[in-house]
Amino acid sequence: MTHPEGKHIVVIGAGIVGASLAYHLAVKGAKVTVVEAQDIASGVTGTSFGWINTTRRAPDPIAALRSTAISEFHRLEAQLPDLKIQWAGSLCYGADTDEALPASSHQSLAFRVARSRVLELEPHLKNPPEQALYKAEEGALDPAQATHTLIAGAKAQGAEVRTHAQVLGFTTRHGQVVAVDTTTGRLEADVVVIAAGTGLKTLTGLLGMPLPVEASPSIFIRYTAHPGVVRTLVSNTEMEVRQTPDGAVWAAQDYLGDALQDAPSVLAQQLGEVIHKAFDGIGPLDLQTACVGLRPVAVDGLPVIGYLPTVGGVYVCAMHPGVTLAAAVGRLACEEIVDGTPSSLLEPCRPGRFKPAPGASEAR
Ligand SMILES: Cc1cc2nc3c(=O)[nH]c(=O)nc-3n(C[C@H](O)[C@H](O)[C@H](O)COP(=O)(O)OP(=O)(O)OC[C@H]3O[C@@H](n4cnc5c(N)ncnc54)[C@H](O)[C@@H]3O)c2cc1C
Repeated sequence: MTHPEGKHIVVIGAGIVGASLAYHLAVKGAKVTVVEAQDIASGVTGTSFGWINTTRRAPDPIAALRSTAISEFHRLEAQLPDLKIQWAGSLCYGADTDEALPASSHQSLAFRVARSRVLELEPHLKNPPEQALYKAEEGALDPAQATHTLIAGAKAQGAEVRTHAQVLGFTTRHGQVVAVDTTTGRLEADVVVIAAGTGLKTLTGLLGMPLPVEASPSIFIRYTAHPGVVRTLVSNTEMEVRQTPDGAVWAAQDYLGDALQDAPSVLAQQLGEVIHKAFDGIGPLDLQTACVGLRPVAVDGLPVIGYLPTVGGVYVCAMHPGVTLAAAVGRLACEEIVDGTPSSLLEPCRPGRFKPAPGASEAR
């Protein structure tokens, strides 16, 4: 691995992942240019629920990485107070909650609470469950606003940001990337970081190794309502909902397909009624946004982070849940790129796992 301190690093993509990488790289003293096809946070980051969610059903190959997410965001918000994270905790209940108990490494973050405690935490809930899983240390943020804050932090450290500059290709020499070709011109680069979300497969395809990261749809919804009603983040079989201090109610829903009755606006109206019935005093929910966002999910569900094994100087970074992991991965990936310090936490995420075995295609 090279030590590109002082070298030029081009980061492709200004979603929360690219922004976190750009920020950490710039703070380390690297010369950073971010290139973004559209606007900052215009990809899936702009339609994300924003839950810093550390719990997954076992077995979770990235449990150790996930368990650092909360402390890494505390570190980051101390550096960038404009991140404005709501550390209100989450309450999960209903089917699946038993199996969703966190891995032992972060068991301290979650504990079962009885109905009386649920009511203390969510006093406006009309039908509180007998018990719930309370993850007191979890939080949520506005992913688009956080991305702008990270980009502003990167710029303050000297990073350059080019929006409306789509990457069309790469120039390589002797198996090493040397430049990125964009719609606004060529950029010489010592290292290229591809943080392009669902654009990863196309871009790595141009480098001869299309990584199997697919677009996984999910629905993002936002309403206005009476402020101060939903106190934590509530996740159950009927809804995944939280409220910001200005009264906005944020929700996420499964994507069911492209039939008319499953359109985001239709599901959002139905969910609005469910939320209205569930919380006393929330008032009528006024729908502001309902849209589909495309999450970058690898075929095995794990993040894809590390150097591409086929071309020198290309580091890839795509994942879901990208908001949860953005602070941790931004720091760890930056240490790999700038200091040459490999992180054991990122080992399960290496892109080399998708490298076809020699002769594999002939065998089929
Ligand atoms: C409804 C919904 C709810 C979600 N809830 C959560 C949650 O609660 N917690 C959580 O952790 N995650 C959540 N996610 C997932 C999370 O939003 C994503 O994992 C994360 O935003 C991915 O960020 P990213 O920066 O990798 O991708 P993006 O935000 O998509 O950024 C990639 C950027 O790369 C740019 N780009 C692509 N190709 C090129 C190119 N050729 N040239 C230049 N630029 C290019 C794109 O324009 C885009 O801006 C949710 C997603 C959805 C849809």
